[in-house]
Amino acid sequence: MIYFIGAGPGAADLITLRGMRLLGKASLVIYAGSLVNPELLEFCSPSCERLNSASMTLEEVISALNTHRQDETVVRLHTGDPSLYGAIREQMDALDKLDIAYEIVPGVSSMNAAAAALKTEFTPPSVSQSLIVSRRAGRTQVPEKESIPALAAHGASMVLFLSAGMLKALCEELLSGGYQPDTPAAVVYKVTWPDEEIIRGTLSDLPQKAGHIRKTALILVGDFLSGSYARSKLYDPSFSHAFREAKT
Ligand code: SAH
Repeated sequence: MIYFIGAGPGAADLITLRGMRLLGKASLVIYAGSLVNPELLEFCSPSCERLNSASMTLEEVISALNTHRQDETVVRLHTGDPSLYGAIREQMDALDKLDIAYEIVPGVSSMNAAAAALKTEFTPPSVSQSLIVSRRAGRTQVPEKESIPALAAHGASMVLFLSAGMLKALCEELLSGGYQPDTPAAVVYKVTWPDEEIIRGTLSDLPQKAGHIRKTALILVGDFLSGSYARSKLYDPSFSHAFREAKT
C-alpha cells in the first residue's frame, strides 16, 4: 500500500503517530527533501530505501512508487498537511490510472504551527470568523477572482503561503484591497525548526522589517493578531447549550 503522509511543519515530533508508525514499516520513502526534516527518516528501518523527490519529475516519482510489491509499505512524505500546496492531486490521478491503491495520512500544516508559535486564534468572535488561505500569483497562476486585492476586500483573517519572496508587492496589494495600513501582520519563517524566526509588524512596516526573508515562510494578516475581541458564547456563563445549562 502507498501512503501519502503529512510530515508536519518541521519538528520531527509533530508528525502523527500513524505517520510515524507507517514510516517504521516502509520499504521505500520518497520525501520532499526541500522542506521535510531529515530527522524524520530516523523513524525508518535501516533497510528502507530513501529517495529525495526534490530532483525528481512527477513521472519519476510515479515510476518509483510503482515498483513496490502489493504487500510492501511505501510512503510519499509531504511537508505540513498534504492537502495544501502539496501537488498530490496529480500523483493520485496517475496512481488511479495505474489502478494502484493509496491512502492519505493528514499532517500538521505550517499554518497551524504558525498560529501556535504566535499564540493566537485565527477566528476570535467579533474580529473574524473566516480564514482565507491563499498565495500571491508568481510562476504559478492564481484565478483572477482570487487575486490578493479581491481576497483582502473581506478584511478576514488571512494566511499566505509561497509568497515570502514577494512581500512588498503582497503588502501593497493587501492595502489596495482594503486592509488598513495599521492592520497587524506577521512573517513566520521555518516554524518549529531550530532557526525559526517570527517578525511582527503592520502591513505598512512588515516589508521593511522582514525583507531579508525570501522563502519557507508564511505571512499572516488580520486583526486577529491584535488584542481586542469579544468573549466566546461557548464558555459564557449566561449561555446554554447541549452540554451545559446557563448559570443565572
Ligand atoms: N503542505 C504544506 C505547504 C507546502 S507549500 C503545509 O501544509 O504547510 C510550501 C510553503 O509552505 C512554503 O513556501 C511556506 O510558505 C510554507 N511552509 C512550509 N513549511 C513551513 C515552515 N516550517 N515555516 C513557515 N512556512 C512554511
